[in-house]
Amino acid sequence: MTPVIARTREELAAARAQVRGALAFVPTMGALHEGHRSLIRRARELGDAVAVSIFVNPLQFGPNEDLDRYPRTFDDDVAMCAAEGVDLVWAPTPEVMYPVTPEVRLSAGRMGTVVEGAARPGHFDGMLTVVMKLFHQVRPDAAVFGAKDAQQLALIRRMVADLDVPVRIEAAPTVREPDGLALSSRNRYLSDAERVTARYLSRALRAGVERAADGPAAVRSAAQAVLDEAAEADPPLHLDYLALVDPATFEEVGEAHAGEAVLAVAGKVGTTHLIDNMPLQFEPREN
Ligand code: AMP
Repeated sequence: MTPVIARTREELAAARAQVRGALAFVPTMGALHEGHRSLIRRARELGDAVAVSIFVNPLQFGPNEDLDRYPRTFDDDVAMCAAEGVDLVWAPTPEVMYPVTPEVRLSAGRMGTVVEGAARPGHFDGMLTVVMKLFHQVRPDAAVFGAKDAQQLALIRRMVADLDVPVRIEAAPTVREPDGLALSSRNRYLSDAERVTARYLSRALRAGVERAADGPAAVRSAAQAVLDEAAEADPPLHLDYLALVDPATFEEVGEAHAGEAVLAVAGKVGTTHLIDNMPLQFEPREN
């Protein structure tokens, strides 16, 4: 079944009025892949109807980032939505989304300035601003986000808690290629040789996570050793950060940390910015 495609606020309002029961929502920037498909499937479990938004949000791109060349594959995206039984696709143009440049915006606070936020100043403010707008436009009961973007997920949870947003937030695990590379719309930028280098990201994370029993320092150095190799690869990985953080606050965890953590990494291969992370658990250790 083909979903209803809404391109204006009026079309969206008409389509939204047809929805009966709970609506589950998957916000995306399009160029849909199997990671997005898994989010849509989770949304189908959560709602009587599913809405997907496709919008490349200019507000969350920095001046030297890939807004103009970001892949746009609208027909294929709609085909995937149709195959997955999506009811509604919300696909506004930038002019529809931002009839005027927004003066009032959300701030991601301290959490927006660390880790990925330090590498991409303003990114999370722009992301939260559009997600809040999307929530108001679509009025979902639940929304599904990928653990692939762990800091985004943490910030959405904080936004919903801090601002009493009446949407249930669900996380879906990261979908990977058989060799470990996390699926990303940006993977299509990679040449064959860059694609090989990109594998170091997930390899480093795995090497780190395997040392969880030995504590945070061991995790960091095992992952860093793989990233040092990646820096020597041809083409090299240019590391932006390796961070071992509390999943709720994105503050670096100390050596005495027990409980959940996230090992996050980002870097550039050629001109492509790639990020990845894996969750891990630290048991209380003696000394
Ligand atoms: P994007 O279109 O890249 O903005 O992503 C839209 C949603 O899909 C976000 O919630 C992402 O975290 C999620 N997502 C992207 N890649 C993956 C992946 N490999 N596995 C699971 N979720 C993903």
